[in-house]
Amino acid sequence: MKAEIISVGTEILLGDILDTNSQYLAVRLPPMGIDLYYMSKVGDNLQRLAETIGRAHKRSDLVLITGGLGPTEDDLTREAIALSLDEEMYVDADMEQRLRAFFAARGFTFPERNVKQAMLIPSAQAIPNPRGTAPGWWVEKDGRFIVAMPGPPAELERMWEREVTPHLADLTTGDVIASRTLKTIGIGEGHLDEMVSPLLKSENPTIGVYAKPDGVHLRLTAKASTQEAARRLIQPMEEELRRLVGDAVWGVDDDTLEAAIGAILKERALTLATMESCTGGLLASTITDVPGSSVYFKGGYVAYTARMKMNLAVSAELIERHGTVSDEVAADMARAARANADADLGVAVTGVAGPDELEGKPPGQMHVAVDDGGPGLSISYTYYQGRAATKRRAVTTALALLRRALLARG
Ligand code: ATP
Repeated sequence: MKAEIISVGTEILLGDILDTNSQYLAVRLPPMGIDLYYMSKVGDNLQRLAETIGRAHKRSDLVLITGGLGPTEDDLTREAIALSLDEEMYVDADMEQRLRAFFAARGFTFPERNVKQAMLIPSAQAIPNPRGTAPGWWVEKDGRFIVAMPGPPAELERMWEREVTPHLADLTTGDVIASRTLKTIGIGEGHLDEMVSPLLKSENPTIGVYAKPDGVHLRLTAKASTQEAARRLIQPMEEELRRLVGDAVWGVDDDTLEAAIGAILKERALTLATMESCTGGLLASTITDVPGSSVYFKGGYVAYTARMKMNLAVSAELIERHGTVSDEVAADMARAARANADADLGVAVTGVAGPDELEGKPPGQMHVAVDDGGPGLSISYTYYQGRAATKRRAVTTALALLRRALLARG
């Protein structure tokens, strides 16, 4: 089945909102055996919208539309579908009744403009939307389908999962695609590519190597008649990859590095504290993105100035001798975080977030250290990609170093 997605709204064309609905739908089609061929974005203009829908309907078995189902004059998706299929809209009495009841139940007066949301064309059926007032449209014409869903993501997602997917599953017959992502850290993209090169020729599953902010991902993608069969093709290849890459694999699919580390800390009943300079609390914030992190995270210090660091028992002598942006001070910050918080591990970041240099050191110079009461670990590098990305990279490096320290403890 060939599909395309149309997202409707001038807000999208102006760049005011990001079209996350298209992405939401796109990732869900391959596992259902639906091939996506086109994505379009159209403003709130009847002619252009009708033209886009008409073209899509001619060339694709399934057209998925999001947005433009609201009650206002510039919500034109229904009108555009009717125009492109040359059908007349009419008010469905049952739907109008339900819509009026929806407003009454909430104590709101019914704006007559909303009658528009009770309209249908002969080829359309309404799709229920308990999260909002705009029902969707399921249109079937000439053996092809157009599915119109609301723009607000919460409404779209429920409608897609609960109302649309079950019907589509009955219609699709092609092969489905399953994928599995192994997430690694500590081995560069080129080196990893070399390590897995004997497997890269495989055609089903295929293997892709992608550099991402949290390390390098290995993505296995298999095609088969069922999800189950596709997953069976992936499994032996995943085992082989894990054998080649070893403990560089820290997680799979939607796992995050902070959650993977949290799981190790929890399992070993270890506690953690942080001291950050240039990342300004981003490391602590990332660690606490994980639900239940209070079990292992004791807390974090944001010590931006030299004085703040000294107040937290970082050595004045080391600061004087090496400057705050140095391996020595990073290591002492990790030690101080651990000691002050009475934690098992301390992790620290100091560096130059940029764009200006600091203490004669260039933007992007970073020093990260972990103290676990033993010899400790540290890493330093210089890599500047703008302030925000530099801070994020330092956080990822700190988490990766922490993981290395945990693996080294055995
Ligand atoms: P409703 O009448 O329930 O608001 P609608 O179908 O008319 O629904 P739109 O008016 O097109 O939807 O969009 C409403 C809001 O939904 C937008 O302001 C935006 O916040 C969100 N939205 C719309 N389209 C998208 C999209 N493609 N991706 C992400 N969010 C979107």
